[in-house]
Amino acid sequence: MASTLSRAIGSFPNRFDPGGMSALPEHLQETIRRRDEVLGPGYLLMYREPVEFVSGYGAHLIDHEGNDYLDAYNNVPCVGHAHPRVVEAVSWQMAAVNTNTRYVQEALVDYAERLLATFPQELSKLSLACSGSEANDLAMRVARYHTGGEGIIVTRWAYHGITREVSSFSPTLGTGSPLGPNVRLIDPPDPRLAAPGSTLAEHMRSQVRGAIDDLERHGFRLAALVTDCAYSSDGIFTDPVGYMKGVVEEVHAAGGVYIADEVQSGFARLGDSMWGFSRHGVVPDIVTMGKPMGNGVPLSGVVFRPEVSEEFGRNVRYFNTFAGSSIPVAAGAAVLDVFEEENVQQRVLENGNALRAGLEEITRESSYVAEVRGSGLYVAVEIVKDNDTLEPDRARAEEFINDMRNRRVLISGTAKGANVLKIRPPLAFSTADVARFLETFAEVAKVRL
Ligand code: PMP
Repeated sequence: MASTLSRAIGSFPNRFDPGGMSALPEHLQETIRRRDEVLGPGYLLMYREPVEFVSGYGAHLIDHEGNDYLDAYNNVPCVGHAHPRVVEAVSWQMAAVNTNTRYVQEALVDYAERLLATFPQELSKLSLACSGSEANDLAMRVARYHTGGEGIIVTRWAYHGITREVSSFSPTLGTGSPLGPNVRLIDPPDPRLAAPGSTLAEHMRSQVRGAIDDLERHGFRLAALVTDCAYSSDGIFTDPVGYMKGVVEEVHAAGGVYIADEVQSGFARLGDSMWGFSRHGVVPDIVTMGKPMGNGVPLSGVVFRPEVSEEFGRNVRYFNTFAGSSIPVAAGAAVLDVFEEENVQQRVLENGNALRAGLEEITRESSYVAEVRGSGLYVAVEIVKDNDTLEPDRARAEEFINDMRNRRVLISGTAKGANVLKIRPPLAFSTADVARFLETFAEVAKVRL
């Protein structure tokens, strides 16, 4: 028990206090005790009163007692929890055969063609992996190989994954996980950070230029700029768009490549596009994707411009046992089927707009809300001590998240100050779900905002 408690205290949003623990049903308390006995280091539980689910559908999760929770947090089950189309495709494939990429698989080729058709034509090569971290790891290996450089630029509070290489450019992992000497940090695209009289585009470009200069001064040529196109861990910054053009010009002028991390922003999360980068009118050199790609079946991918991956492909073997095997590919293809059949992107756009409009209405008068921002079904509500100083109010955000959970609506928090409510439901979120969400949010806002 002691170690779960000590890991959880100080983490966000799981301030795990014994008060919350004793309010839980006995069997859950027992599972948590046993979990602590057997799991390795670093695990956290969400919410002051952690919760276990036994089934789900659409954007809904059901606990042991049959209570229905509204899921406004999980992006992996993008087309919905236990979507029958995905369940059927995976079950069928599992009962038939599972082979890897060393065998001819027509279904893999079909999937690659369909997925690549959603990208600009310059991006025409697909490699598969099993997680976002693996995808970013491969992307960076290829970027280093292609450019001959080592320098990496990421945003100040970025997260890109867990491998040794990728954690070295994931500052959000904190001081226990050191950044590489070849890594430089820039501000996320928050218009409020641009100096008076300067545009966001100028601010971003000059930061990238400064980071490149500093890398070169320390003997590192640039390999890559990597950005999460939703800047999720930085606090969610999706708009305004358009500043990336100058940024990418700087990166190319220094001999580097631009890697767009679409693990969060991809698969129509932002509503007005399938991929976050395309909102900015740029074509990256490499794109990585993951989480929603297999609706819960481990599946991730890297898309390249052929000229960037060619030499690596000639000289380095790539075999990744499970990646591209028949079962995850069946899941990925079923997700694309649902996108077409249910017109998912349009639904995200409409329900996302309604969600943000409702949140703006509810929070308009509150001095504790600096901004409601986001795009599609990726929405941030920034909680501050007061609207003049914009000082993050972590404690208030934490109370808000736990109050929502206690009313059976699941959200979480993000940003360095842990003060930004992160609302990121499955893309199956319906108009009825939006209404239930706003009703609950308004109830909590009456108390907390
Ligand atoms: N990139 C981004 C932007 C992410 O948010 C994450 C996961 N939170 C990853 C990469 C890593 O993905 P995974 O957990 O599948 O390794």
